Amino acid sequence: MAEIQIKNVQKSFGAYTALHDIDLTIADQEFMVLLGASGCGKTTLLRIICGLETATEGEIWIGGKRVDHLAPKDRGIAMVFQNYAVFPHLTVFENIGFGLRMQKLPDDVVRQRVERVAGLMHIEMLLKRYSGELSGGQRQRVAVARALAMEPDVILMDEPLSNLDALLRMEMRAELKGVLAESKTTAVYVTHDQVEAMSMADRISVMHSGEIVQAATPIEVYRNPAAEFVASFIGNPPMNFLDATSAGDGKWNVAGRVIDGPKGAANRPLQFAIRPEDIQPATEGLEARVRIVEPLGAHLLVTCDVDGKLFRAVLDSDMVVKPGETLTLAPQPDRIRWFDPETTKAVA
Ligand code: ATP
Repeated sequence: MAEIQIKNVQKSFGAYTALHDIDLTIADQEFMVLLGASGCGKTTLLRIICGLETATEGEIWIGGKRVDHLAPKDRGIAMVFQNYAVFPHLTVFENIGFGLRMQKLPDDVVRQRVERVAGLMHIEMLLKRYSGELSGGQRQRVAVARALAMEPDVILMDEPLSNLDALLRMEMRAELKGVLAESKTTAVYVTHDQVEAMSMADRISVMHSGEIVQAATPIEVYRNPAAEFVASFIGNPPMNFLDATSAGDGKWNVAGRVIDGPKGAANRPLQFAIRPEDIQPATEGLEARVRIVEPLGAHLLVTCDVDGKLFRAVLDSDMVVKPGETLTLAPQPDRIRWFDPETTKAVA
């Protein structure tokens, strides 16, 4: 069992607080992605879990044992860094077996383990090659294989696919996820790429300014963002927002129309929110003046002006739409979300 518990972890660098009171439990064998923009504290949290950094306050527990006083090597963790340092003058076999040799394991055990993980990562045919001769993608697999060979309870990865081209990234995404599920490892994976996060994670922790704003399954984060930040960070293009004022209990004025919404919140304005893909042209709906039309192959991305605000719709690619035109766009009622502009949190 390798459940990871991060209990009230706080980290300051001098006067700067990089992490505020982080509380997060990662289940045994879970694939948890830490997602957030540059500087939000993802790497710092990862380094605290593995012991390369010490928390200013708080505790780290792995498999029911407190580990924050243990050296990194005694935590049962393997780590794959962004710049996946494989040794170019060693063969792939020697690279993958490096940690095992350091542990002074017998030759036959080293061979068995190296061959098994090389098989998992589809690099068994490269074992005799020097790592310096490999492509970026192949070196990446070697770095992951080396981490898996240690048979760690926990694997931490910091943007491990960031140096690969788009196609290879997509291939490696699916492969890595499969391999980790097979090896029953608990994984914490740092990325700022939301597509990577959505496609790989069992759960995503969305981070912002040193806090976890929401930790939930990818579909939950996408459909039910807990705060405006999540709604605008996840999804490309992001969610649309419009000002809403009360029109009586459970009714809201949005861009000149009355729409059903939250009850009992009548005394203050709210933000109405809808994803660009949850909007359809209709006979009744929001009046949208078209600014930009971008054919994206599978869809048509239309940027409009609604109530003086930027508003995007992802429409059927067969639609004929021209800039300057006025469209009537109907938001799908069950996909409308509401946020409190004061707290920026979702309102049910
Ligand atoms: P990126 O995606 O760019 O790697 P990140 O989310 O991983 O970003 P961190 O590297 O965790 O961000 O950094 C979080 C904040 O803490 C940043 O503002 C960074 O400048 C600051 N920080 C990190 N390490 C140190 C340090 N050793 N000394 C001072 N400030 C630091």
